[in-house]
Amino acid sequence: MTAAPEATSTSRPIRVAIVGAGPAGIYAADALMKSEHAKTPGVSIDLYERMPAPFGLIRYGVAPDHPRIKGIIQALHKVLDKPQVRLLGNLDYGTDFTLEDLRRFYDAVIFSTGANADRALNIPGVELEGSYGAADFVSWYDGHPDVPRTWPLEAEKVAVLGVGNVALDVARVLAKTGDELLPTEIPANVYEGLLANKATEVHVFGRRGPAQAKFTPLELRELDHSPNIEVIVAPEDIDYDEASEVARRESKQVDMVSNTLQDWAIRDVGNRPHKLFLHFFESPHEILGEDGKVVGLRTERTELDGTGNVRGTGEFNDWEVQAIYRAVGYLSENIAQLPFDEQAGTVPNEAGRVLDDDGTHLTSTYVTGWIKRGPVGLIGHTKGDANETIACLLADYDAGALTAAAEGTSDEVIAFLEERGLPYTTWEGWYRLDAHERSLGEPQGRERVKVVERDDMFRASEPDKA
Ligand SMILES: Cc1cc2nc3c(=O)[nH]c(=O)nc-3n(C[C@H](O)[C@H](O)[C@H](O)COP(=O)(O)OP(=O)(O)OC[C@H]3O[C@@H](n4cnc5c(N)ncnc54)[C@H](O)[C@@H]3O)c2cc1C
Repeated sequence: MTAAPEATSTSRPIRVAIVGAGPAGIYAADALMKSEHAKTPGVSIDLYERMPAPFGLIRYGVAPDHPRIKGIIQALHKVLDKPQVRLLGNLDYGTDFTLEDLRRFYDAVIFSTGANADRALNIPGVELEGSYGAADFVSWYDGHPDVPRTWPLEAEKVAVLGVGNVALDVARVLAKTGDELLPTEIPANVYEGLLANKATEVHVFGRRGPAQAKFTPLELRELDHSPNIEVIVAPEDIDYDEASEVARRESKQVDMVSNTLQDWAIRDVGNRPHKLFLHFFESPHEILGEDGKVVGLRTERTELDGTGNVRGTGEFNDWEVQAIYRAVGYLSENIAQLPFDEQAGTVPNEAGRVLDDDGTHLTSTYVTGWIKRGPVGLIGHTKGDANETIACLLADYDAGALTAAAEGTSDEVIAFLEERGLPYTTWEGWYRLDAHERSLGEPQGRERVKVVERDDMFRASEPDKA
């Protein structure tokens, strides 16, 4: 802990800035609001968000055909409805304002900036046309304003590398028809793009076996619910070593996933029009190209080594595909003025307290969510993260270890943003955008149609312009 910070005053509410209004940031606000400190001395929270709308990857990551998960947004409303919590959207930390700016107004700053990029996969051919990062495709189909409006979907045979839930999302969206996805919230440009999708075969590749796949059981079984998708697993891809058997005994989830895959491997293949193959023990070795474009994937067959890991067999297989989606993990971006662990893609921290290069706590600075512990886990997991981080922040407050903000009224923050000429969106603005998106969906009997363009989002958020 850094020495002798000026203690926060107990006569006014604790002022906290949260950067990133995804689930982790919103749960952090919720934990603060539920603490004893919310009564005395009170808390006042500003949630800064770079997008014009809040909710992070719930809006821009979760697949559109997962309306139940998207519905978590409704539960998060009650946090942002609280008068002590203020949303300031369309503001990018690092570009529009700095850590020093925040220190002027807040006793503590929490970063919950999540992850939005693809982890690199270093195999030859990765740069070829037709080789895509899953995060970019996800951003496209989820209507993120900062990616191109069109997506090339000419490939008839497609490979998806990775065996986690993001790989399942990407494979499912590629294998479904545009009309199957129409009842969801997908924007018009995405529906049109998907109508032109030529993919009839989607091949998902995992380096290891069924017991090592990172799928969750529900999401895996869901693949089989589409009337257009025939899920196919080869019997020779079902194999377990001693460590795999232990993993199945110790984890219900691993066992359920293994059982589902086993069932699929022994059933007869049906005649639904699109084939989705789940391949195991195939390690991506090279993306094959011709004239700068993807024409195939070379994998090396692997086998279990007894410990749940695999070794190469020296046998290579070539798969004819015209597009490859790399779903090997998300990665957080470096946050300005904070230490960053490039390998883990996290801000070094202890239970949410940001650690400086010499391992001491950077006073009044905290992290939560994916930027705290890496891009793994479900939305629900960010709640536990937030509770831990907030417990540390409040303990530091009680110990007089936060650096008190020099300025601190809500109006001063607004004056600062206006002085800088930074247009921002608000929570009331989100209600207007929400109503606008719902009204776009209504004539088509859909719950909503997402607005994609930043300017359009901004306009719909303004009073009387939706
Ligand atoms: C493709 C995909 C599908 C998923 N599907 C599911 C699912 O079905 N069910 C489930 O439970 N979980 C799912 N998850 C996981 C879930 O999305 C994460 O657990 C959760 O979103 C992490 O929350 P977070 O708040 O840490 O990060 P994020 O959700 O990434 O939120 C971070 C927020 O910070 C903002 N931000 C970033 N940088 C700045 C900056 N400089 N200034 C201001 N704001 C900034 C971002 O715009 C974003 O709004 C999925 C994840 C992905 C990638």
